[in-house]
Amino acid sequence: MHTTPPNPQSDQEARIRQHGDALLQAAEAFEPHNPVSHWLQSLLSRLHQNPDFRIRALRFVDLLPALQEDAEVVRLFDEYFSDAQEFPLPRLGRLAIRSGRLLGPHQLAAAIRKAIGLLSRQFMAGREPTTIRETLSGLQRQGRLVSLDLLGELTLSHREADDYLNGYLQLLDVLSVQPDQSLQLSLKPSSLLPRLLPERVTANTEVMVKRLRPLLLKARRQGVAVTLDMEDSERRPVILALFEWLLFDPEFRDWDGLGIALQAYLRQGGEDLEQLIELAGRRQTPFAIRLVRGAYWDQEVVKAQQNGWPIPVWQQQAETDRHYEACLQRLLAAAPGVYPAIASHNLRSLALGMAEVERLGLATEQFEFQMLYGMSTSYQQALVKLGYRLRTYLPFGEPIPGMAYLVRRLLENASSQSMTRWQVTNEDAASCFAPPKVETRLPAERPEAGFQNTPLRSWLKPDECQAFQHAIDQVRGQLGHHYPLLIDGEWRDTAACIESFNPADRAQLVGTTACASQEDADRAIRAAEAAFPSWRERPAESRAELLRKSADLLAQRRDEFAAWQILEAGKGWREADADVCEAIDFLRFYADEAERLAAGASVKLPGEHNRYFYQPRGVGVVIPPWNFPLAIVTGMLSATLVTGNCAILKPASDTPVIAARLVDLMQQAGFPAGVMNFLPGPGEVVGDYLVRHPAVHLIAFTGSLAVGQGILRLAAEPRPGQRHIKRVVAELGGKNAIIVDQSADPDEAIDGILKSAFGFQGQKCSACSRVILVGDQYAHFSRRLCEAAESLIMADPTDSACDIGPVINAAAESRIQQAIEQGRQAGRLLYRMESRGFESGHYVGPTLFGEVDPNSPLAQEEIFGPVLALLPAQDLDQALALANSTRYALTGGIYSRSPANLERAAREFRVGNLYLNRGITGALVNRQPFGGFAMSGIGSKAGGRDYLLQFMEPRCVTENTLRRGVAPLSEAP
Ligand code: NAD
Repeated sequence: MHTTPPNPQSDQEARIRQHGDALLQAAEAFEPHNPVSHWLQSLLSRLHQNPDFRIRALRFVDLLPALQEDAEVVRLFDEYFSDAQEFPLPRLGRLAIRSGRLLGPHQLAAAIRKAIGLLSRQFMAGREPTTIRETLSGLQRQGRLVSLDLLGELTLSHREADDYLNGYLQLLDVLSVQPDQSLQLSLKPSSLLPRLLPERVTANTEVMVKRLRPLLLKARRQGVAVTLDMEDSERRPVILALFEWLLFDPEFRDWDGLGIALQAYLRQGGEDLEQLIELAGRRQTPFAIRLVRGAYWDQEVVKAQQNGWPIPVWQQQAETDRHYEACLQRLLAAAPGVYPAIASHNLRSLALGMAEVERLGLATEQFEFQMLYGMSTSYQQALVKLGYRLRTYLPFGEPIPGMAYLVRRLLENASSQSMTRWQVTNEDAASCFAPPKVETRLPAERPEAGFQNTPLRSWLKPDECQAFQHAIDQVRGQLGHHYPLLIDGEWRDTAACIESFNPADRAQLVGTTACASQEDADRAIRAAEAAFPSWRERPAESRAELLRKSADLLAQRRDEFAAWQILEAGKGWREADADVCEAIDFLRFYADEAERLAAGASVKLPGEHNRYFYQPRGVGVVIPPWNFPLAIVTGMLSATLVTGNCAILKPASDTPVIAARLVDLMQQAGFPAGVMNFLPGPGEVVGDYLVRHPAVHLIAFTGSLAVGQGILRLAAEPRPGQRHIKRVVAELGGKNAIIVDQSADPDEAIDGILKSAFGFQGQKCSACSRVILVGDQYAHFSRRLCEAAESLIMADPTDSACDIGPVINAAAESRIQQAIEQGRQAGRLLYRMESRGFESGHYVGPTLFGEVDPNSPLAQEEIFGPVLALLPAQDLDQALALANSTRYALTGGIYSRSPANLERAAREFRVGNLYLNRGITGALVNRQPFGGFAMSGIGSKAGGRDYLLQFMEPRCVTENTLRRGVAPLSEAP
């Protein structure tokens, strides 16, 4: 007899279809009767069809709860939408809008608020305990289980983290809970602690466990389960580590109420699942795994692309679907060792889950389905009707953090990469149960042409953190060495020496360098002069190659160079890593730029040939500051060299060791003798002498206004024998402001201000030292900002958990302390972090002053430390006037969600680098060419396309090619 062999694949497909049809049929009885749904449908379809509207609508929804005044609501509604009809509203709302136009802003604002309120109630339970209880019991009456999620996003301070946990503790008090595990809490780990960072896994985990313990114990006593939500991939390592700790904590080890969410859109989701299953095997007590697709797809892709990191998520929807199915099968097969929660709105995933549990013979109580409140309601009820456990994820709480959740839900329902579909009943059943079809040919990724920034460390891989820690340990073993001068290719020593100490531990000698005298300076100048003619004649490509070789060497030793910065300059891990990346970028970018400029330009006319090209200037002196001890040195030095000048580098006396190591590395790349000379010595002695010297043509200086002005004065005066005017490139200080208007996202603003003001202890020329708060938010905003500053961690910068390290030296410490003392006359001291326990280093804690007199030194002068002045402003006019009121014009920023205000700031906030809705430090080579004007400097922007021009002199050669009335053929008219 001839039989067809069984085909497991098609059998499974048939079972999926069968269960899917049963689900569709059961759902028919539960068509949504919600009156909101009609206009919501039209809103969602407009969101889906019109990407431009989608962006504007989501931004407006996100912004609304932050607006206090009705007039602001109406103004911004008008800014976002061309007319009131563009944003679909419920019928009553539309009427109110029409009459509101006649009646005034209050009615109109009320109508808009009502519409967004309806929208949020569709997906969230509100904040009042009675409402939450009603919604909860309504769902329980329908036979649904519930997971309660207290709305909260990024926490900025310990107080906010405490509030979040207290919210749950109070909820447990309020709800009378049956000890049947029917209720679950979903926790967002990022709400438990500010700054969850992958390189701080251990430190973060310890604090979070301590914070969570009382809540977990109480939940356990009340029979309430607790699941950790998974958030973006930057937090994933900490969340996984926290969960593992809790699983094996003696107090929770035998509790089956713990759970964790797992994201299938992550390429690593499958590995995470295997790891969790392995943990369950070791633990012996099961825990819940909620398998979701993931809700941060856009953010993951954008962040990875911006940073040059591998994209952590699957790029095709079908790939995510396929991965979800594979994970689902693996997860169900691991039951009852784990408790699977199939969290999906995708019909095929639900049907696959139903088919698999049947095939595996799992009992109803050995798994559950999960869906979000307000979405696919009829399918939720249908699953209950079919006898499955169904848990509804129900968010509750304040509207502001709720908006971020709402935006994610709307995005999920509307975006082209949508993981779910609204109202799947309308879809063709066959296509919605078809297996995911992965396109084999992905749209070809554009090969990136030209210069690319060096990706910063993501710290996402544990071995990245270990390697970095190892580099710090290695460098610790190399402290105390001596570094000589380099003149004419020879390392030479001097009788005197410069000692460099670790600012975090003043007793620790990082190293010593030679200390040049004026005779050494003369020798270096002679060597540079002698090397100049042949270096000048070298083709630009050959000089550029030496820069690229140096970049490669530096890239190979990036962690080591970062570690030196931590120990010699007191930079934190991320700051030190970024500094090395910037140095590599300068080398590669200026190499490209030198080649571009070497091509020159020619203009040909009949009988006339014009050649435009550049020549180097001669001997260049490079005088960098200590605060970017590698990047700025590398940038100014490489620009001098690649354009054909010979250089004498006089490093900053606080960071000469890093400079010496850089020079050594660049020597290894093969710079000829005399081209690059290294001359550490006191600025006032050697620096001053070099600046005056008649044989010097070019001075590249970055530093303070006072020293810069002195250099400009000295350089302007010709000395006997000098036959040229010196060129000075001077990048100076700043007194940079961030404006926060009333429409700003306060969380983002506070986060950005903290990083900009206190990153590297405020010792950046780009640092924020003034915050200008528009309107009546002043009291509330400044309180939150102070609380957030209070949560920063002062530590030794070798510790990855350090937010606040030391300032550079004793003089800086006392200068900043003095500025703080004087600041008391100019404003109200709002907060000052004590530095007790850190006396072995030069520590000054973040300090904030409120209501600062805008004309006081506190608001006008650069302090170059972690001191922030807060200034109130009535409106944007006054804010811009304040922002522009100092003699500096380096960086600035504005946080606003008003397109009109952003546009106005772009025009009227006059600084070299203006940032909209982000922090104001961390400019990247080529992407944000950096530098200011007014008293902030007289150079073209570093890392920009005009920079190298300053190191060269342009020439034009014109030839008459007409001889005896005959011109070359190519020039014939
Ligand atoms: P600084 O002016 O004290 O020193 C800068 C360099 O000049 C050092 O190498 C120093 O040894 C040298 N120097 C000092 N006196 C000299 C003299 N008389 N002649 C020649 N050289 C002399 O500045 P710093 O404390 O090293 O750096 C902090 C300052 O740099 C801040 O004002 C900051 O805003 C500014 N800065 C500006 C930028 C920018 O791009 N605009 C970048 C970083 C730092």
